[in-house]
Amino acid sequence: NTVVIGGGTGFIGRALGTLLHKKGYQVINISRMPGPMNIVWDELEYRGLPPSTAVVSLAGQNILDPKRRWTPGFKQNVWNSRVNTTSSLAKAIAKAPEKPKVFVSISGVGIYPPSSTAEYTEDTPTQPTDFLSELAIAWEGAAKLPPEAGVRQVILRSGVVLGRFGGMVQQLYLPFFFGVGGPISPGTQYLPWIYIDDIAKMIQFSIENEKVSGVLNGVAPQVITNKDFTSAFAKAMWRPALIPVPKFALDLAFGSERAKIMTEGQKVIPKRALEYGFKYDYPDIDSACRKCARLFDDF
Ligand code: NDP
Repeated sequence: NTVVIGGGTGFIGRALGTLLHKKGYQVINISRMPGPMNIVWDELEYRGLPPSTAVVSLAGQNILDPKRRWTPGFKQNVWNSRVNTTSSLAKAIAKAPEKPKVFVSISGVGIYPPSSTAEYTEDTPTQPTDFLSELAIAWEGAAKLPPEAGVRQVILRSGVVLGRFGGMVQQLYLPFFFGVGGPISPGTQYLPWIYIDDIAKMIQFSIENEKVSGVLNGVAPQVITNKDFTSAFAKAMWRPALIPVPKFALDLAFGSERAKIMTEGQKVIPKRALEYGFKYDYPDIDSACRKCARLFDDF
């Protein structure tokens, strides 16, 4: 039982690898760096896909890296690191003489335009309206396998993944710890989110459940705003959250095109995951934030 994970060394990939190991799977990561359980992308191309039951696509340059300016070169990096890696996996699957049973590929809720009124489910038609939606559409397109490949396909449109050791929480931890964290104005923007253990579990669910196919919104069932997240996180950290971060500061620091991830949001419903009977371990923001805060105490 082997699962090949493109980008398996990352925040979500590490959580998924740990979960799969516990369940008795073997994991092979595809990485830019060679390593004991890694193969590099070139090797995938010239040697082909290692025999496996499932393939997962999770690679991607960290879009919210505060050290990187939002230049055309960096945007290209953000694009290629998702679209090209996913397409390499799809090509390797199509060429493999022994096919995996399932290909799970991640994408983002940025495929839906930010809105304070619209409610999005997997049935909502998508169209390119900005950089993030164009990227997500191309990314999902790169994952498409020809039907004759006979491989089940699942696309997970992930919300912001919350966990102590990666993504947004890792960047917010220190300001909140020192009591200078706060909501991002206006605060009323939706924050589609999911706890790290749940996105890993949803990937495992997609691998193991033969009925699951097509798009699933990878978000928690509780819809929250940025202000709701801030209060829950501050409460879990026993800190105040008084100082709002103005939108213009984030636009300036990140460039407004990507600052959108924080300054705007979408109301996303995990309709299909719930219909399939997926059970969340952290369905509400209070329990997820408590876990994010508590983990730190363990170290
Ligand atoms: P990480 O930032 O942890 O990166 C995942 C892996 O991608 C890295 O370990 C790295 O593997 C590989 N990678 C990074 N840069 C490049 C590059 N320039 N070219 C090729 N590979 C690269 O991501 P997460 O685990 O947080 O997220 C995984 C995927 O899920 C990403 O595509 C992300 O866009 C998507 N997603 C994440 C969300 C989140 O909140 N975390 C929300 C929605 C979607 P290595 O160094 O081994 O090559």
